[in-house]
Formats: sequence, structure tokens, C-alpha cells
Amino acid sequence: MAQQRFVSAEQAKAPFFLGIDVGGTGIKIGLTDDQGDTLDFVAIQTQEPNGPDDAMRRVNLACEELLTRCSLSKQDVVRAGLGTPGSQDIRKGLLLEPPNHPHWHHFPIVKCLEDHLGLSVSYANDANAAAFGEFWVGTGKIYDSMVLLTLGTGVGGGVIIDNELIVGQNSFGGECGHMIIDPSPNARLCAWGGGKGHLEAYASASGVTLRAREELLAGAESSLSTKIENITAKKIFEAAEQGDAWSLKFIEQTGDYLAVGITSMVHMVDPGLVVLGGAMNFGGSTSKTGQRFLQAVRKGFHERTFDHLKHGTSIEFASLGADAGYIGAAGIARSDYHKTV
Ligand SMILES: [Zn+2]
Repeated sequence: MAQQRFVSAEQAKAPFFLGIDVGGTGIKIGLTDDQGDTLDFVAIQTQEPNGPDDAMRRVNLACEELLTRCSLSKQDVVRAGLGTPGSQDIRKGLLLEPPNHPHWHHFPIVKCLEDHLGLSVSYANDANAAAFGEFWVGTGKIYDSMVLLTLGTGVGGGVIIDNELIVGQNSFGGECGHMIIDPSPNARLCAWGGGKGHLEAYASASGVTLRAREELLAGAESSLSTKIENITAKKIFEAAEQGDAWSLKFIEQTGDYLAVGITSMVHMVDPGLVVLGGAMNFGGSTSKTGQRFLQAVRKGFHERTFDHLKHGTSIEFASLGADAGYIGAAGIARSDYHKTV
């Protein structure tokens, strides 16, 4: 599996790109070369209540410091990429109403960052940027198309078809977590907006916690039965690793819910590769439980799809971790840059 690579300024291949990944508490900034290798990166605090202009001012200072550390200057960078949480209007460069950034609403963040940086800025949804990072240098490196699902507090994602990131008419492209997987009247509700039967309500960390609590309260036999109030996806993973049969079965059921959504996505865009990213990976490829989780996703997909898609579609874990966001933001900047030169 492809891993993130680091490169020295002497060995890096020009031109250079800055990637900026804005989160609720931190902003990660990386400098990459034309092949997606990272020269160096830095993290600063978001300081959300101080507003977006102050944050973009500090992003610029951090970029200058990062370049100095690499013995480079702004003249060596041809473009920057910015990823932020939605909602947003990508084409207009606007933040709309990101729920964890109440002091940043309806703000022209791209113009603001361009003014501070003195560089042109490409803009993306943060989950889409992470998808593009995995596509450029991670698990998707050898593919032309890819779908990423990020399993965290919610379920995010990104869709890349024939090397193009799908943004969509309303900047909502790739919001895989809001796919409907259960049309029944008593389907689960998703955290944002109360959408009914969405994948996120079943396969995000918060959805998993709620489902687990309900099953345990209903009398499921498990080593976690006495710890229902403090249940988390991580605790279910740990119990499964210790041999708790209910936990393992529960994780496989979660994989099957994902498989329902993945089958619909594959039937829609035929990406050839589906990547599972995010913190909730039940140990990932290095753990027994993570492997069982991945097998459950593949099995559920294979049971619901056609033979040629079963053979022509890989489902794998992501490989870049939390760095996928800034790498992908830089990658989107690179993609835009190479379209103009
Ligand atoms: Zn939803």
C-alpha cells in the first residue's frame, strides 16, 4: 500500500504547492512538490472565535515559516489549495454555515487567503480534499477513479472520476454519508438536519455508539454489557480484539451497512476502487478485527453486485491518515495549475 513520502528540498521536483486543511481545532499546512512528496508540514490552532481573517493571516505567517525552513520562498510556490468543512460554495470561494465554525459563516475565505498569501488558491470541501490526497499519493495512486468514505464522527467522502474531483452543482458532491440505505419509516436519523435512513446514522462513530447502546440495553450478551454508558467505537474494537463475539458481529454488521451504500455508489459511478478512511477503522489493516471489518464490507458488496463489478472493484483501507487533507488540497492546486500552463 502506498505511504506518504517525504523529500528534501534538494531532491524535490518543482514546482511546489501549499496545502491547507482547516479543522475545528487545528489547521494543518504542508508543502509538497510536483509528485506529491511532502517537504515539511506544520500545524497551528484554528482559534475559531477569532474569526477567519485572523486565521488566514496566521496561516500566511506559518506558510512563510515553513518555506524558510525548507530554504524556499513564495516565488517557488505556484499555487495553494485550501480545504474547509462545509457547507460552502466552492465556485464562489465562500464558506456558508460550517457547524463547528459559528464565527466564520458566510465568509469569502478564498479571496481572504489569496490576499494574505499573494498566491492563487484552489478550494475544496475537506473530505473531498482528503479523497484527492488518497487518490494522488495514497491507496488510489495507480487508479484513474476512486471513491473515499471517511468514517469519523460523521461519514464524509469524495468521488474522483477520470482524474476529476466531483464538486457538484451545490458543492455537495461526494457527500456519501447522506446516501439513503434504509427507506423504512422507523429508519435512524442522521445528526445534521435529521435526514432519515442515511448511511451516516448507521456507520459513523456516533451512529455506531447509538446502535451498540440500543443492542446492549436490549440484552445483548457481551463483555461490554456492564459498560453501556461509556460505549465507543474504540471500546467495541478493543472488546472484539479480546474475543468478544457480540462486538465482532456488531462490527461486521457495520461493515454490511457500509456495503449497502458502497454498492449503490459503485453502480452509479463504477470507480474501480473504494477506499475506507477516517479514525473509525476498527484497527485497520494491521489488526485482526480491522481485517474482519474489511472482509464484511467486501462480502456485503459481493452479495449485492454483478460479477464483473465484483471482480473489477477493490475495497481497501486508506493509507495517509490525517495528512490526506493537506496533501489533497495541494494536489487539487496542482491539478488546477497544470490545467492553466
Ligand atoms: Zn444525513
